[in-house]
Amino acid sequence: MSDWSRDDVTTLKGVGPKLKEKFDRLGIQNKQQLLFHLPLRYEDRTHLTPLGALQSGQRALIEAEILQAGSSFRRQGRFRRVLLVKLADATGFLTLRFFHFSNSQQQRLQKGQWLRCYGEARTIMGALEMVHPEYEIINPDHPPPLERFLTPVYPTTEGLHQIGLRKIMQQLLTELQQHRMEETLPDDWLRQYDFPGVSQALQILHNPLNQQDVALIQAFEHPAQIRFIIEELSAHRISLLQRRQQTAALPSPRVEDNPALTQAFLEALDFSLTPAQDRVVDEITEDLKKNQPMMRLVQGDVGSGKTVVAAMAVLPILGSGYQCALMAPTEILAEQHFKNFQSWIESLGFSVISLMGVDKGKKRQTKEAAIKTGQVDLVIGTHALFQASVEFHNLGMVIIDEQHRFGVDQRQALRNKARKNLMPHQLIMTATPIPRTLAMAIYADLDYSQIDELPPGRTPVKTSLIAHSQRQDLIDSVRKACVEGQQVYWVCTLIEESEALQCEAAEVTYTKLKQQLPGISVGLVHGRMKSTQKEHEIQAFKRGDLQVLVSTTVIEVGVDVPNASIMIIENPERLGLSQIHQLRGRVGRGHKQSYCILLVKNELSSQVANRLEVLRNHQDGFVIAEKDLEIRGAGEVLGTRQTGEASFRLVDLMRDKRWFKEAEQLANLLMLETYQHERSQLLHNWIGHRAQYSDVG
Ligand code: ADP
Ligand code: MG
Repeated sequence: MSDWSRDDVTTLKGVGPKLKEKFDRLGIQNKQQLLFHLPLRYEDRTHLTPLGALQSGQRALIEAEILQAGSSFRRQGRFRRVLLVKLADATGFLTLRFFHFSNSQQQRLQKGQWLRCYGEARTIMGALEMVHPEYEIINPDHPPPLERFLTPVYPTTEGLHQIGLRKIMQQLLTELQQHRMEETLPDDWLRQYDFPGVSQALQILHNPLNQQDVALIQAFEHPAQIRFIIEELSAHRISLLQRRQQTAALPSPRVEDNPALTQAFLEALDFSLTPAQDRVVDEITEDLKKNQPMMRLVQGDVGSGKTVVAAMAVLPILGSGYQCALMAPTEILAEQHFKNFQSWIESLGFSVISLMGVDKGKKRQTKEAAIKTGQVDLVIGTHALFQASVEFHNLGMVIIDEQHRFGVDQRQALRNKARKNLMPHQLIMTATPIPRTLAMAIYADLDYSQIDELPPGRTPVKTSLIAHSQRQDLIDSVRKACVEGQQVYWVCTLIEESEALQCEAAEVTYTKLKQQLPGISVGLVHGRMKSTQKEHEIQAFKRGDLQVLVSTTVIEVGVDVPNASIMIIENPERLGLSQIHQLRGRVGRGHKQSYCILLVKNELSSQVANRLEVLRNHQDGFVIAEKDLEIRGAGEVLGTRQTGEASFRLVDLMRDKRWFKEAEQLANLLMLETYQHERSQLLHNWIGHRAQYSDVG
C-alpha cells in the first residue's frame, strides 16, 4: 500500500516528459522523492503590510496605487534605462525600480492603477524601494484572496519555475492526505518526543500555517523537521552498519600473534612508543585476533607518529605469510614511507617495494610480477596500487594513509585486490582531526582509535602573522637563520585551486628567493615536477644540502625533516585552519624552537585575522578542527570525500550534532529484526538509490 509514493512523477497531472527531465536533474523520480524536496525558505503572503509600517530589509506583500510611472536613463556604471513607479497607500510611499522591462509592461503601469507587490523593501537615500518585485495589477474593490499558508520557496533548476513547482507540490500534498505515507518511526518515539507523524510533518514543512511555525523551521527547531533530521542521520548510520555487518561476515586472513617479531622491531627502533601509540597498537592487535576483517580508523594529529603504528600492524600480517599494501596520496610521502619501512622491516627478513605512477614499461612489469608471485611482502605506493594490472598473491591487509585524500571507491578498488571471498584487514589513517562525535557519526562502519599525544620533547611551534609589506625583513631573518644552520620551508599557496597556477607561483618565488638569498641553497618541489627530481630535492633537504625548500602544498602531507624549524606560508588566508595546521606540523619535530610565519595581505579583514588568530593560540589539531568546523561548516571542511559519500539532504553535521545521540539510538533500535519494515522504509526515504552502493565486492 505504500506503493503510491513510489509512483513515477509523471503520474501527476501536468508532469510530462519535459518536466520529468527537469525533475531528473533535481534527483527526483518518484512521488516520495518529490515529497522530500523540502522548501529552502518561505514567503509570507498571508497578510498585507501598510507602506507606513514597512521596514528596510523586510520582505512583504503590499497593495498601493500608482502615483507616477516613467522611465529614464540613469548612470549605473554605464547608462541604462530604468523604470521607476511611485506608489502610495493611506499610510506611506514606496518606489518600485525595474532595470529590465518591456514597453508593454511599462504601458500597463499607469497612474491610478492599483498594484499588489511582493518583494524586499530597502531604504535608498532615505526613501523605501523595491527592486524587481513580483507584482500584479488588481481591482482595489475586488482584490484577489490572500494566501492561507506561507508560500514555500523550493530549490529548483533552470526552466522549472517556483509557481509551477508549487502547483505540482500542492497536487501531491492533496494526494498525500488520501494516501498517507508509511510511518518510519516507532510509536514510542513519536509519543516520547511528541513528533508529528510522517504525513503531517511533510504537510507542515511544505505548508506551514503561521509565522510561529516558520520561525521554528528557520531555526531548525521545529519538531516536524527534527524528526526528519534524526531520521536522515539514522538512515545514514544504518546503511553503514549494514555494510559493516556484511563485511564482518566475510572470511578474513588468519593472523597469528608474533611477539618475537614485535620484540625485534621495537628493539631496533631508536625511540620507544608513546602510551597512546601503545594503546592503539593493542587495539589493532585485538582486532586481528577476532577472525573478522578489521576496519579501523586511526586518527592522530600531525606528527603524532602514525607511521610506526602502521608498521606494528604490518608485522603480524607479514609474519603470517600474507602481503600488505600501503597507499599514500603523494609520491613524496610514498617514497618516504618506503625508505622508513625498508629500514624497519628488511632487517627482519621481509621485502618491500614501491609502486608509483612513474614505474613504467619493463620496470613496472618486473615489480608487478614480484607482487603477483608473492616475492614481495609489502608494497608501498600511490594510486598506482589499485590499477587493474596490479594483482596480489595473497593480500592480507590494506593501509590507507591520509585517507581524506582518497575517495571511497579508491579504497574499495584496492581492497578488492584480495583473493576472491577473502576480505583483507583494513587500517585507515588520517591527520585531519575531526571531533570524536562527528567521526563516530560519519564513520559508523569503522572502529575508531585516536593517538592523542605527541612524542615527547616537542616544543610548540610559535606562530605569527607578517604582512607582505615586511617581506624584505622576513627574507633577512631567513638568511640569518640559514647561516645559523636552520632549515626553512617556504610554501606558496594560491587562491585558485589550480595546480598549474600553484606550481607557477612556486617557481616564481623560487627564482626570486634564489636572487634574494645569495650564498644560501634554495630548492623547489611541486606536483608538476618529475618524481625523480622531486625526490632529489627532498633528499637534498633532508641531508641539509638545501637550506630553503620552496614548495606548493604538496608538502602538506607527511614529509618528515626534523631539522627544519621555520615554516613560511604565503597567502594562508583562504586555506582551512586544519590545512594550515598540517603544514605547520612539518616543523616543530626536533628539539629546537620552531616558527610558523603566515605571510598575509597588508589589509586583512578582521574576520580573517580572527580566524588565523586561532592558530596562534592553539596547537591541538582537534581544537583547531573544531573551530574550523564552527567557522566554515562541516560541508566545506569535510567535503564529500570525508563524509564517506554521504551528502545529506537536510542534515548539517555541525548544526545538528545535538541530535547524534538520538540518531544513534534510533539506528540501533531499527537494526532489530522487529523493525525490519520501518528500517527499509527509512532507507528508502532517505538513502534511496544510494542504498544500493554496497561496499562489498
Ligand atoms: P604522522 O602521525 O604525522 O604521520 P609520523 O609517523 O610521520 O607522524 O611521525 C613523525 C615523527 O615522529 C617521525 O620522525 C617519527 O620517527 C617520530 N616519532 C614517532 N613516534 C615517536 C615516538 N614514540 N618517540 C619519538 N619520536 C617518534
Ligand atoms: Mg603520516
